[in-house]
Amino acid sequence: MLDKRQFYINGVWVDPAHPNDHEVIDPATEDACAVISLGAQADTDAAVAAAKAALPGWMATSPEDRIAALERVYAAYKTRTEDLAKAISTEMGAPIALASTSQVGAGLSHLKNFIAAAKAFEWEKPLNADTPDTLIRHEAVGVCALITPWNWPMNQVTLKVGAALVAGNTMVLKPSEESPLDAMIFAEIMDAADLPPGVFNLVNGDGAGVGSQLSSHPDVDMVSFTGSTRAGIAISKAAAESLKRVHLELGGKGANLVFADADEKAVKRGVLHMMNNSGQSCNAPSRMMVEASRYDAAVEEAAATANKVQVGPPSEDGRHIGPVVNATQWSKIQDLIQKGIDEGARLVAGGTGRPDGLNKGFYVRPTVFADVTNDMTIAREEIFGPVLSIMKFETEEEAVAVANDTPYGLTNYVQSTDVDRRHRLARQLRSGMVEMNGQSRGAGAPFGGMKASGNGREGGSWGIHDFVEVKAVSGWASE
Ligand code: NAD
Repeated sequence: MLDKRQFYINGVWVDPAHPNDHEVIDPATEDACAVISLGAQADTDAAVAAAKAALPGWMATSPEDRIAALERVYAAYKTRTEDLAKAISTEMGAPIALASTSQVGAGLSHLKNFIAAAKAFEWEKPLNADTPDTLIRHEAVGVCALITPWNWPMNQVTLKVGAALVAGNTMVLKPSEESPLDAMIFAEIMDAADLPPGVFNLVNGDGAGVGSQLSSHPDVDMVSFTGSTRAGIAISKAAAESLKRVHLELGGKGANLVFADADEKAVKRGVLHMMNNSGQSCNAPSRMMVEASRYDAAVEEAAATANKVQVGPPSEDGRHIGPVVNATQWSKIQDLIQKGIDEGARLVAGGTGRPDGLNKGFYVRPTVFADVTNDMTIAREEIFGPVLSIMKFETEEEAVAVANDTPYGLTNYVQSTDVDRRHRLARQLRSGMVEMNGQSRGAGAPFGGMKASGNGREGGSWGIHDFVEVKAVSGWASE
């Protein structure tokens, strides 16, 4: 078993102030694969103090110097992709092919996009051409606490660290206690990038400990958080006392509107998107809404597609899905599948229990419910597992109303070959992102939500904007 009980503080690996062992469980075997330490207040304080001490120097560097630093991070990341993929696959169960491509690749592309965005970013500019005497400056917010989840761990770590770093902030990263191993490799990457001590720090811990210590810490200026809406609310409350800036990326309950005129692959694409990463994506299209004339065929096709989704060990190569992250998530998903049955939804694929042939590991059967109504628990709660709900609609107006009838607002999806309809829906759907006809967002596009899905925007220049203060300086050009 790997011994990973150290923290990265002030440019060196240090032992915890008070040992507090925590086993990292491999969800495929249910056995411990590593031991980490959960930090105590003294560890949090040491990391925050290091970040605070490093702040004046790092803030004063030029954007060019910080871009060069990010380029060194990018180069170091490239040399560790295999290690990162293995760690992600072991600790959160992503099949190795998915971990190597999408999971690790997401981090690489975010770092690259931040380099490009930072080069184009107007760090200082006159208010406008007529008022050169007023200068608008973008400068660091300060000491940032970065709290990340386990589901797309490198994606979320790089979205926060890349933007915070290039904007001149110093930081303390607290990765999820479910996926600390890839984050510790990332700390080695930061170490190899030769940053001034204290600019980047990592302390492992859980939400109740290091997570809430960072959220309430008087010397932390900003918290950037990705994870559950529950934790987002707790962090906002803890941060309120010291009036920290809080940026949140929370859950979702995305609608996928499939119109009768959608392309022939639309239903299959929607099911596979839902099952990807074992359904553990905040932007998963978990409510498939199908126009009445195509509904029966869509249900049949969705069930057939789900039945073909293979479930298997993360260490095996292939396009199967792996287990979900832990026992708690597995039980929560089982309860929600049972609730779907009890509340009258029609089970057309999957169901409770493990898939055939898998007796150990947190494996879930790819599951599809038809005849779901939007008041059912499975249509309202984020399940975070490979479970799809299908609903029927008659008119476009009804589809929009039901899609928007959710506390969440992260990503909605539209499948239609009618361009006028797509343009109407792009304006009417209440979510931070709308993805149409299977087209993914362009490089550097902002990722983030509305309503209970949060208030942050991550990636590219919008991601940098999240980590800067805007300062207006008058008398800049006068004698
Ligand atoms: P979580 O929100 O509890 O954990 C995410 C991160 O927040 C972890 O680093 C955790 O240690 C930390 N955290 C937890 N409580 C905290 C607190 N009070 N103060 C500060 N930090 C805190 O998520 P989870 O329990 O691992 O998963 C539960 C549910 O969260 C899932 O079912 C899913 O719905 C949702 N989730 C969403 C996302 C997303 O990307 N939006 C990611 C992970 C989980």
